[in-house]
Amino acid sequence: MDTGSFVGGLVAGLAICIAVGLFVRFVFAPRNSAVAAAAAEHAVPLLEVKSDSALLQSQDEPSQATLLRLQHMFEVTGDKLSQISKHMMAEMKKGLASDECAMKMIPTHVVRRPKGDEVGSYLALDLGGSNFRVCEITLDGRGGTRSRQSKHVVTDDLKTGTGAALFDFFADQVKHFLMNDGQNEYSAEEIESRNYKLGFTFSFAVNQVSINKGYLLLWNKGFSADNCVGEDVVRLLSEAFRRKKLNIDVTALVNDTTGTLVSHAYGAPDTYIGVILGTGTNAAYVEKVENITKFKSSGTAKDMIINTEWGAFDDEMVVIPRTKYDHKVDRGTSHPKTYTFEKLISGMYLGEVVRYVLLDLVKTGEIFVAGGSASKTLKIQYAFETAYMSRIERDHSLDLSDVRTVLEDLMHIPSTTLADRRLTRAICEMVGKRSARLSAAAIAGVVTKMNKLDGCTVGIDGSLFELYPHFSNRMRDALHEILGFSADNIVLEQARDGSGQGAALIAALATSITE
Ligand code: ADP
Ligand code: MG
Repeated sequence: MDTGSFVGGLVAGLAICIAVGLFVRFVFAPRNSAVAAAAAEHAVPLLEVKSDSALLQSQDEPSQATLLRLQHMFEVTGDKLSQISKHMMAEMKKGLASDECAMKMIPTHVVRRPKGDEVGSYLALDLGGSNFRVCEITLDGRGGTRSRQSKHVVTDDLKTGTGAALFDFFADQVKHFLMNDGQNEYSAEEIESRNYKLGFTFSFAVNQVSINKGYLLLWNKGFSADNCVGEDVVRLLSEAFRRKKLNIDVTALVNDTTGTLVSHAYGAPDTYIGVILGTGTNAAYVEKVENITKFKSSGTAKDMIINTEWGAFDDEMVVIPRTKYDHKVDRGTSHPKTYTFEKLISGMYLGEVVRYVLLDLVKTGEIFVAGGSASKTLKIQYAFETAYMSRIERDHSLDLSDVRTVLEDLMHIPSTTLADRRLTRAICEMVGKRSARLSAAAIAGVVTKMNKLDGCTVGIDGSLFELYPHFSNRMRDALHEILGFSADNIVLEQARDGSGQGAALIAALATSITE
């Protein structure tokens, strides 16, 4: 063979290899978005940070130096997760002994879980943070339920106005809900003449002194309505019902975490923890009464559900690494330096962390240079929603077209390059992953404290856990890093309507399961 035909053969061979490679990639590229998402999560990361900064960089890729710097800030290593988990156990013990701790460890007065044979119709009100729901739950006595509900947005004006206006709004919505059940319409007089029992899911820190009495300790999640802190929220609600002529007994005051635990246990008896990953984050678990040393028990119950209020975990900032962006988010809230764990984790804040990172990169000229600037929208507090992060992380298109939609159409960035969009996606991944890993570290701490490493179910409610791509896989990976094989014994399950059904169940059982 002469040199010419050898080179020719080589070139032809190479061309065939490339063509076959492209064909295989095209044909076998995952089309289904879930498959694509799983593949992207577990196989090839979209952005691989290369340690060799001397590598020639394509214009379509963000700066490796920027990526490395950010990754270093947001990464939580396996060792760090273990430390966080141990610190969680120590803080839980402290909170069980004293009221003076940041993490309140509130005894809920709920001392056992339902059996599944409870019957009757009950109302539940659920104030989570973003939404307010009215539910009617019918327990069928065989572990099943029927429910109907109405959902309402709580406006910023209501959140920050007068307490009376806020509670009157709740009472008005209940009245509307009862006057029309979807099939029949009832007059106000008919509704006013009936008696109802209601469970109130109120997902803020209260000092709960009995099953239907609890004093609001502080607002968080953007609420600051006046004349509420220090008051019994059941009294505030009952007075609003009276003002609206409604005959409703508020028989249980429930935190959404407790509701989630109880309602998930109704169908999955091995549930010992309820977790919220929604607007905020929190957890409730079953503790031995003898370990709750700050609680003077008057009954014989051996166990009681504790509402941890873990949103305030590590408020002393001794174990979890924070970035300058986290401090900015914190300073911008109505309650700086408190509930700082929540601000690293939950739906209300994740988008805000990303927004501050983007603004900083605009300032240093590392992003959106082509468009010349950020946008007015990007400068608005909370304008970058956590739901956008989900959308961005779910985008596996070659040109990241959905990321473009978010940045250019929703955030009004004048124009973006592929490198900008990849960088934005990488930032969302870092912030989203950190949230999942920190939540897992907290869960690992609670499970270990309970001595349930040999098996238990965690019921998890909230849009963040439900809708953020890869969230549960990332939690699971982190649990493995912390607990090794024992992580296999811990089941993370989506809990549905814990706050509605749980409140109704606890209201139904208020006389028999409380002390
Ligand atoms: P609540 O905590 O008020 O009961 P949810 O569980 O629905 O309500 O959580 C609302 C939070 O979930 C909001 O802070 C919002 O940012 C976040 N969220 C809503 N949709 C998504 C989504 N697609 N991906 C991630 N987070 C989301
Ligand atoms: Mg909720």
